[in-house]
Amino acid sequence: MPNAETTNTNFIEEMIVNDIENGVIKAPITRFPPEPNGYLHIGHAKSICLNFGLAEQFGGECNLRFDDTNPAKEETEYVESIKNDVKWLGFEWANLCHASDYFDQFHMWAIDLIKAGKAYVDDQNAEEIRANRGTLTRGGEESPYRNRSMEENLDLFERMTKGEFDEGSRVLRAKIDMASKNLNMRDPVMYRILKRDHYRTGDKWRVYPMYDYAHGYEDAIEGITHSICTLEFQDHRPLYDWFIENVCVPHVPHQYEFARLNLTYTVMSKRKLLELVSSKIVSGWDDPRMPTICGFRRRGYTPSSIRRFCREIGLSKADSMVEIELLQHFLREELNKTAIRVMAVLRPLKVVLTNWPEDFVDELPAENNPEDENAGMRTIKFGREIYIDRDDFMEEPVKGYFRLSPNKEVRLKHAYMITCTDVVKNEAGEIIELHCTVDMESRGGDTPDRRKVKGTLHWVWAGDAVPAKVNLYGNLFTLRNMSDMEEDKDYKDYINPGSLIVLENALVEPLLASAKPMDRYQFMRHGYFCADMDLTESNLVFNLTVSLKDSWAKELKK
Ligand code: ATP
Ligand code: MG
Repeated sequence: MPNAETTNTNFIEEMIVNDIENGVIKAPITRFPPEPNGYLHIGHAKSICLNFGLAEQFGGECNLRFDDTNPAKEETEYVESIKNDVKWLGFEWANLCHASDYFDQFHMWAIDLIKAGKAYVDDQNAEEIRANRGTLTRGGEESPYRNRSMEENLDLFERMTKGEFDEGSRVLRAKIDMASKNLNMRDPVMYRILKRDHYRTGDKWRVYPMYDYAHGYEDAIEGITHSICTLEFQDHRPLYDWFIENVCVPHVPHQYEFARLNLTYTVMSKRKLLELVSSKIVSGWDDPRMPTICGFRRRGYTPSSIRRFCREIGLSKADSMVEIELLQHFLREELNKTAIRVMAVLRPLKVVLTNWPEDFVDELPAENNPEDENAGMRTIKFGREIYIDRDDFMEEPVKGYFRLSPNKEVRLKHAYMITCTDVVKNEAGEIIELHCTVDMESRGGDTPDRRKVKGTLHWVWAGDAVPAKVNLYGNLFTLRNMSDMEEDKDYKDYINPGSLIVLENALVEPLLASAKPMDRYQFMRHGYFCADMDLTESNLVFNLTVSLKDSWAKELKK
């Protein structure tokens, strides 16, 4: 469980330790504040592990808060998926909160700001506001409506709230400083008119607060001590503080920023992920190639491997790119200890053992997992006809090929040594069957003369092998760093056409007939696979979670 795991020290942790030592706080109160406008992705997992992790580590609390201030994009489907994903990652929230629960309070604070001469109703439209905002080198221009009387502002804001005006015709703005070097401080919009029903408040509101206006107040109401967000909000911090300072809040929260997670071969914006789903490029939010938490889950990732990844990459103040292979490495390390080793033949090639006694079936002992002494043994049956993988035979072997080829001997895992004597082809010249002889003395993989044989192949017995479908997944994109896209290209131009290879005719050990959805296995010599979420006994489907090749193992030992 997460609380048993230690965290790499990071700058936010150090700050919390200081705050506790100096008596500023007893324990941190944090929150994870997603907008329910899409499914969570691995970047969110970093934020979840950080916020929930800090609360756990220091005996504080973390809220799950839906930042649901924009009725246009939010849906309950997303709310449910987010709750599910946070739980799956292994975390429990102290309170389930909604920004929409505070709409009345936000509205009262807006009125307080108007009364204090610090907010005004602007009749300019969005375009005019943008044009008058100025640039980094040129100050903004004050709105002609900036100096309206308090009474007029109160009246107009009330009428905006009631829905008397059209969308886009007026906004409520904070009256700060149109000459500020920080563009966020140039009279930012606090409320806009949206004549939309909200999934929780229905038609009660015709104005909705902006993120910058609402977020600090949400933190203030919940007593958040460390409001942690990604770097792009750094320039918004003065505004966050300004809103807090200019009304009477029950608690003063502080915002801290860290660099967002970027992963190689991955896009992470919700807009793009939504587009991949709606344009059917992927099968859904939980397609095993998606960087969503539910996608990783379906792919066979464990919550602990994701938590470990989030912990080990640590926190930084500068944007960087993390290798997807690092995440795969942590997953592999875990599955190596927990996954049963089984044999699965992905592209079957029949092998007849010509000197094997006709009806004889041997029962061979097989270790379930050499990395786990409690995993036990099983028996596997072996007889005259077996299947091996097509890739494990080459009629004209290239140099260094130690698998099966004519007149060459290989070992069959847990079983016997065989030598290829004949290659049977159809009329088209395709290989349909191999004939081999078996050394009956080599049971268990060794011969009395201790003959050296280089290749060891996996296999299944034709007498009890079970048909299965196997999905081989790869990266969804071909570009390592998706921000290196060529200018005239779209991210969809980089979709990897080989990101899903479906093998309809695989054959697996009979043990796998009783697999339950999400059971994880190592298919020997192939990789780690998991039983699909929708698997049934008559429709066995296994998904490649991660291959066996680990490019990070050596790096991390250095
Ligand atoms: P996106 O940009 O993908 O649409 P978002 O920031 O709009 O994401 P929110 O629902 O607002 O999504 O995010 C909830 C929390 O998750 C925020 O605190 C945000 O900072 C954090 N978060 C989002 N993306 C990442 C990321 N890539 N790395 C770390 N934290 C992230
Ligand atoms: Mg956001």
